[in-house]
Amino acid sequence: MTRWVREIYKRGGYVYATRAMEIAKGAGCPRIARLASNENPSPPSPAVVAAACEAVKGANRYPPENQWELLAALKALHPDEHLVVGAGMDGIIEAVIRTLVEPNEAVVIATPTFSFYGIAAGAQGARVVSCRRELDFSVSVPAFLSACRGAKLAFLCTPNNPTGNLTPPETVAEILEGMDGILFLDNAYVEFSDLDYRPLLRKYDNLVIGRTLSKIHALAGLRLGYALVPAWLDPFMERAMTPFAVSVVAAAAGAAALGEAERAKAYAAHVARWRDRFAREIRWKVHPSGANFVLVDVAPMTGTRAMERLAARCVLVRSCASFPDLEDHYLRVSIGDDWENELLIREINAL
Ligand SMILES: *Cc1c(COP(=O)(O)O)cnc(C)c1O
Repeated sequence: MTRWVREIYKRGGYVYATRAMEIAKGAGCPRIARLASNENPSPPSPAVVAAACEAVKGANRYPPENQWELLAALKALHPDEHLVVGAGMDGIIEAVIRTLVEPNEAVVIATPTFSFYGIAAGAQGARVVSCRRELDFSVSVPAFLSACRGAKLAFLCTPNNPTGNLTPPETVAEILEGMDGILFLDNAYVEFSDLDYRPLLRKYDNLVIGRTLSKIHALAGLRLGYALVPAWLDPFMERAMTPFAVSVVAAAAGAAALGEAERAKAYAAHVARWRDRFAREIRWKVHPSGANFVLVDVAPMTGTRAMERLAARCVLVRSCASFPDLEDHYLRVSIGDDWENELLIREINAL
């Protein structure tokens, strides 16, 4: 029967970081430091949980066409922008490709980066064109623009997953000036940096900014993301979105979580403090990061081996072996609770 399965899924798909958890469970860890998925270590607040519970009482009904509470909360944060919401930024990424790209058209990706752009583009029949970042993981504008020639859509992640580095807004502006198509700027981690790319939306009508509630807003399990889009694109993306993709529970919890600015700020400050401590106290090379994780170079060990050894010591981190165009000697380490971070420093230095 497998002959009916598309080639792309016979070759592979999204790689989940499940191996570390299996090893840690096998090792009988009393508690496990979960630093593999860039999640907020704190559960949602009681107010967010209450909003979600209230919403589930109406779950016999389909979500309303416009989820006003969620949209109002987003509008309060982004008063000048056009917004599209979806089931995680992952849902938004798929919808942007659906809206713009015909089969066999090129989609450009600045690698190494988040693998889902390539998977989603390939799944919709696009031709994926990788443009490798420089050795310090910065983006070369001439190289990127040359890869983008004739392409309708390109993906650029800043702060970049898994490398953590930022592409300055001026560089993004240069790219927007020079490219023929749309730039999808993935800002999943932007709240952990001090950069704001939204002013570019005022100047360029070929920019889409992706955001998520999975990271700073602590709702990874509810699947909620959104995009800031140019006015002209908004109605077409709405047509391409999966109907009712955002559940009533996600919308209610999201609206409540977006209102907790102080909580988000405190978490971002915690992340910034620990990023500095990681850079100072980890004995391996720690790359500069504007996100809630850092990239650690464990050469001459492979990332996979280092991940396995840390997992056996009850610390889950992500091996970067599955990221396209990245050699296998890196770990991506999320910033967690204090005890998790302390344990990580101790164990990674003992490798
Ligand atoms: C986590 C992440 C996302 C989005 O995640 P969702 O949970 O689907 O909103 C998007 N891009 C990058 C680079 C990420 O790391």
